[in-house]
Amino acid sequence: ALNHAKDDALVKEKLFNPQQGHTLTRQVFLEAQLNQALTEEDALVVWYQPKQDLHNLQINGLEALIRWNHEEEGLISPGEFIPLAERTGLICSITDYVVRQTARDLPVLRQHGFKGKVSINISANDFVRPNLVESLLAIIEPYDIDTGDIELEITEGAFISDFNHCIFLLNALKEAGFALSIDDFGTGYSSLSYLTKLPVDTIKIDMSFVRELARSEQARQIYKGMIDICKAMHFDVLAEGVDDDVQREVLATIGCDRIQGYLLSKPLALEKLLAFLSK
Ligand code: C2E
Ligand code: MG
Ligand code: MG
Ligand code: MG
Repeated sequence: ALNHAKDDALVKEKLFNPQQGHTLTRQVFLEAQLNQALTEEDALVVWYQPKQDLHNLQINGLEALIRWNHEEEGLISPGEFIPLAERTGLICSITDYVVRQTARDLPVLRQHGFKGKVSINISANDFVRPNLVESLLAIIEPYDIDTGDIELEITEGAFISDFNHCIFLLNALKEAGFALSIDDFGTGYSSLSYLTKLPVDTIKIDMSFVRELARSEQARQIYKGMIDICKAMHFDVLAEGVDDDVQREVLATIGCDRIQGYLLSKPLALEKLLAFLSK
């Protein structure tokens, strides 16, 4: 009985751990507010980070990255609320929101001379939606853009559940005209062989590798080999999170096609991006 009471106390302590209690309360609180934010104007905002072509130094792409402009807490990063949205199913509404906002902003960007595609992050959860392709097409239909203006970024994590279904969906997206890229490449299952089965255009090398590149000659050899293979398979190779000149130099030397990162620019609100593009 004594042991039982002890276990009981332990269970209570675990269940009512104030630290966890706090986290849980915050999540319940954020979940309700995120639901609300989706219905409000300007609570969720889409910022854009430029991508640069290393061959001609042109800005030839943008990545749409969501921000939550919270009344009391200020900007909440997607690192905090995207996982929450994925657990609660709100992520599909967020995807739709970002696609719609991008479709609105792109004609403005075109007027300011932007050439290239805007990429949008697609979650693993979007892959189990019944009508992903039809939903995306319906959202952009009223706007003056087409599917060829949009690239969808997918992480390797999306492929683990049902690989054949994923190939089917990627082919359908491709046939509808969207460009496709693999995001955070190297952090997941990282098999080059599975890439041959996917109709993707671009491989985005995760920033953790970019950090390694500048530090070790061995890493340079390995990533050069990886890039060579990607190029042999006709993928465009982009490196993420490039934040200094040394990294850019190394990447150019080993054959990387494009870069994205703070060296070029942080993600920018539309107004600031227009100013950046006109420079
Ligand atoms: P990601 O798609 O891999 O996006 C790149 C992240 O790296 C962005 O963070 C970007 O701001 C950051 N970054 C870019 N360059 C640098 C750099 O030079 N140094 C450093 N330290 N960081 C850099 P962000 O905007 O906080 O987004 C984080 C992640 O949240 C994204 O990773 C993506 O997985 C997810 N996310 C963002 N927006 C959306 C969205 O609209 N939908 C979905 N499903 N996920 C999103
Ligand atoms: Mg991305
Ligand atoms: Mg990434
Ligand atoms: Mg990421």
